[in-house]
Amino acid sequence: MGERTPAVPSSTAHGIRATAARLETHPGRVIPLRALASGVRALVELVLPTCCAGCGTGGEQWCPTCLADLTARRHPGGRQTRPEPCPAGLPPVRTAGEYAGALRAAVVGYKDGGRSDLLPLLADLLAESIGPWTSDEPLLLPMPSSPRAVRARGEATTELLARRAAMRAGLASRTVVVSGLRHARRVDDQARLDSAARAANLAGAFAVRAGDAAYLRGRPVLLVDDVVTTGATLAEGARAARAVGAHVLGAAVVAATSRRPRQDVAARGGSRVTWS
Ligand SMILES: [Zn+2]
Repeated sequence: MGERTPAVPSSTAHGIRATAARLETHPGRVIPLRALASGVRALVELVLPTCCAGCGTGGEQWCPTCLADLTARRHPGGRQTRPEPCPAGLPPVRTAGEYAGALRAAVVGYKDGGRSDLLPLLADLLAESIGPWTSDEPLLLPMPSSPRAVRARGEATTELLARRAAMRAGLASRTVVVSGLRHARRVDDQARLDSAARAANLAGAFAVRAGDAAYLRGRPVLLVDDVVTTGATLAEGARAARAVGAHVLGAAVVAATSRRPRQDVAARGGSRVTWS
């Protein structure tokens, strides 16, 4: 699996070279084990971000405050959730947490902040949502990122997440993740659209790649995504998968937006969807 490595600034690369130079041995010289461990830790810290993914303070992946918040946002084991209003054709949705606070910061950091160190955490959460469906041995169908988002991020982050989650959930076959959904046309930015407008914006937006249609026909399929907001994207993905004869069992996501609509979003006429 081609997991990304965080970009290494030239100053960091210099630091790595300096650390590597300190680790160089000379004939007959033995580096004490403690010094070696220290050097390796320095290398790791240079390559991996070590500030808190929630608040940006230094030192660790999570500070105690953000770790407590992250824990509070989780739904251990995952749970089924349903939006109100519910888009037509939305299959059963399971989520592993609330898209808010530290969990929201983790998703955003992974997708747009170069925090590939958060992939295992998010994959574990997605695997919890997938859990009850594993006995059906479903194919996982990641929701496609827009071509613009893939260009900006350099990769399809949801597909990477799906592949790691498939392993965590015990679905280890290479073909279990099928990147068969694609954008059939350009869609407007969803952020400021309410539920009905999102559904209209997305109608017919996705299609299954011609080469994957026959493979999906008659197979149990699970849609996977990082975040669900109104459910319109998942409903459109389900429509496209059913159109080629796939049996859509449901949708597994990392997190669903909060039950309480954000005041600023509601004030400007955005999403008023609630999940229960
Ligand atoms: Zn923090």
